[in-house]
Formats: sequence, structure tokens, C-alpha cells
Amino acid sequence: MSVDFLDDGSFSEYLFQLIDMGRIEPHLIRLARQVIDQGIESLDASQRETFQTEVLDVFTTPNCSQCGAKIPWAEMAETIDQDGICGWCIHLRSRGLTSPPISARKG
Ligand SMILES: [Zn+2]
Repeated sequence: MSVDFLDDGSFSEYLFQLIDMGRIEPHLIRLARQVIDQGIESLDASQRETFQTEVLDVFTTPNCSQCGAKIPWAEMAETIDQDGICGWCIHLRSRGLTSPPISARKG
């Protein structure tokens, strides 16, 4: 599944949050800051590869692992410590409930 980070300004905000939380490895912070300041297209091929495998692949949770809902960048930092589940599932879990897969919700 592709991640539409280029269309979404809140991706930079998310990266900034990750740096702030100390999640980004020190050797990757410069790269992350460059993406925040100049966009991912400013990286050369090898930088982009590094950013993809060591930042995006590690910290991107496009869909909730519980219900399958799309997780917005604004909520993603919250999901890192919650098994990659969405804000709604975190909410339900805090009340001792589990949401059904999103495919089972309709009808
Ligand atoms: Zn969910």
C-alpha cells in the first residue's frame, strides 16, 4: 500500500514529533530534518533509500492493525506504543473493548 505523504502537510508534523520523542536514531535526524525543511524529493537516491527503510518502514502505520482503518499522520505517533492500532481502537481498548475489523462493520 502506498503512503500519500507528499500530499499531506501533516507528514512533516509527524516527523517532527518523532524527532521530539527521541524516536529517530541520531544519525537519521539530519535526514529527517531535511525532509521536513525541503521535502522528500530533496533527498538523493541513497538517502531516500535510507529514509525509506530506516524511518518510513519503521514508523509508518498506514492502517490500524486491529480494525484496518486508515491512520492519519496526526494520530500515528500515538499508535507506535499501541501495537499500531488507531485512536478509536486505543479508545475502545482503554475501556476493555475490541473493535471488529472495518470490513465487518458495514451491513
Ligand atoms: Zn482501529
